[in-house]
Amino acid sequence: MVTGMVSPDLNSANKHFSPKQFRADFPALNSESVYLDSAATALKPKAMIDATMQYYTHNTATAERSLHHDAVKVTEAIKQARQNVADLIAIKNSSEIIWTKGATESINLIAQSYARPLLKPDDEIIVSELEHHSNLLPWLIVAQQTGAKIIKWSSNVDELTSLLSSRTKIVAITQMSNVTGFCPDLFAISQLVHQYNAILVVDGAQGIVHQPINVEALNIDFYAFSAHKLYGPTGLGILYGKKALLEQMTVWQGGGKMLKKASFTEFVVADLPYKFEAGTPNIAGIIGFNATLQWLKNWPLTQLEQYTDQLSQYAKTQLTQLANIKFYSVDNSPIISFNINQIHHNDIAILLSEQQIAIRTGEICAQPLMNKLGCHGVIRISLMPYNNQNDIDKFITALKNAMNVLI
Ligand code: PMP
Repeated sequence: MVTGMVSPDLNSANKHFSPKQFRADFPALNSESVYLDSAATALKPKAMIDATMQYYTHNTATAERSLHHDAVKVTEAIKQARQNVADLIAIKNSSEIIWTKGATESINLIAQSYARPLLKPDDEIIVSELEHHSNLLPWLIVAQQTGAKIIKWSSNVDELTSLLSSRTKIVAITQMSNVTGFCPDLFAISQLVHQYNAILVVDGAQGIVHQPINVEALNIDFYAFSAHKLYGPTGLGILYGKKALLEQMTVWQGGGKMLKKASFTEFVVADLPYKFEAGTPNIAGIIGFNATLQWLKNWPLTQLEQYTDQLSQYAKTQLTQLANIKFYSVDNSPIISFNINQIHHNDIAILLSEQQIAIRTGEICAQPLMNKLGCHGVIRISLMPYNNQNDIDKFITALKNAMNVLI
């Protein structure tokens, strides 16, 4: 992690991390099964579940519209949630935070509302080879619509220097690969990209979970992530965009609340952030995510990260002792991807599932990266601070059992 890029208030030294207490906040962990698929979606803390239940049981109301008591409270909670997201990624102006339905929708919004009107034939979008389909397909689609070109980039900073030119309009990169766990040097990348007056789009879907980020200090133009990977609800995403860019962008979808005035011949768009939030938002999701973020403030994020690193080292050491194993992920990453020679990854997933171990296998939404790695899929375990050594031990035992059946 680049020093100084972390939001300081999130890392105050007086917070204490007890792995046992942290784990106890997750009702789903009160069973024998082992969850090692958090990079697909994280388990949810009780605080989030309770807040969602409270909204649906006692305080159901719309947001930003009606003026009755519960509706006003809901509007206030959404405002607070937006501020909590802004604090999380170290943004001063919370109106630069847009609610979407996920990282995928956030990136599609950038592609269609920012890039599509801007791009001309032969303009270039540099996309790293590490990307999840969500940070590739929106660019391929807009390239087809405009005649712009997609330029493949290894994610290496030196190589970027040779790819950037006056034709480059956008550079798209992940904060953390969902396959290899690699975290590119966003600071160096951002500096280079801005020398060419291009804009930097960062997919934070995996990175935000493990690395506090200071989006303003890194000078990131657009930043996208999903609540559900950060202990939050499904169906809710975040798009951060610099105010000047969001203001110049065309609207994304039309509907209630994205306008100031409308007639049968014209309309005037609302101010940020409402301009991009047509229709009733995911109110329960935002309230649940607000509770998640409030809960997360109790924990020292750097200690959570250190703990997960240690757990990853432990898992890797155990895995290394198995025969014929090939790793694709970087060391000390919460994401560990590998294959076992002669065994199909999906056979492992099925045999582990029978032993109550949840993992992910396959192309994991990164086909181009699979081609580069020379495989058709991987076995991926992903770790969170609610996991422990016992989870790893059970996984290793189950994996050995599976290998005994398959070899
Ligand atoms: N980017 C990365 C790196 C991801 O891992 C994922 C989810 N697997 C996404 C984007 C897309 O997130 P969502 O499906 O929640 O929109």
